[in-house]
Amino acid sequence: NMIILKTRREIEIMKKAGSLVAQSHELVRKHIKPGVTTKELDQLVEDFLRSHNAIPTFKGYNGFPFSICASVNEEVVHGFPSNRKLQTGDIISVDIGATFEGYVGDSAKTFLVGDVDEEKRHLVEATKQSFYEGIKFAKAPYRLSDISHAIQQYAESQGLSVVRDYVGHGVGKKMHESPQVPNFGKPNKGPRLQEGMVLAIEPMINAGVYNVKVLENGWTVVTVDGKPSAHYEHTIAITDGEPELLTIV
Ligand code: MG
Ligand code: MG
Repeated sequence: NMIILKTRREIEIMKKAGSLVAQSHELVRKHIKPGVTTKELDQLVEDFLRSHNAIPTFKGYNGFPFSICASVNEEVVHGFPSNRKLQTGDIISVDIGATFEGYVGDSAKTFLVGDVDEEKRHLVEATKQSFYEGIKFAKAPYRLSDISHAIQQYAESQGLSVVRDYVGHGVGKKMHESPQVPNFGKPNKGPRLQEGMVLAIEPMINAGVYNVKVLENGWTVVTVDGKPSAHYEHTIAITDGEPELLTIV
């Protein structure tokens, strides 16, 4: 369970994978509107990645049958794209992974569909901000759980709750490497952050209670109280200074 440090050369390749993920998110953003099905978004991303010599990392990962995870409203993560049409007032979390030249980029965003109520808009905005609060600590000499703690503190200060059962992770040639990166916990625990670590930081934040359950398809995670959930994730590199976001255009 060693943390695999990446060289500058490897991180440059990971930025290419990450850019393709970010471009996929932009494509999704442009196509999201009431009436679009989540399967259409899945196909769009798969076609885009393959046409850029990348592999949709999720497809076939532990048997996952699609290229993106599309999680609507009370779905937290691992939602299946389907013929469900998005409706005004929905929020949809889209998680995308791309493998390019053997390295993975992993990023998730939650989008608003049409007119969305204030509770959901606040949830989506605060989830994104919790990521940025977390990465203020994504540098030496902080320790891993300083990121986790900052995310939790912020999310809870906003009246929201942090999912416990799913966490962030190291990223490299594999999508999931050591270490696990929880979005909750006490500060000053775990490994010290050092240059060359590449991490997917990914708060999953609920409007209601933090408890979740898995649906009968064996994948889709939903909130137990049916209240909405949001997700915000980037793959980042720890450097000798500020963290570098790899999953940006
Ligand atoms: Mg992801
Ligand atoms: Mg991830």
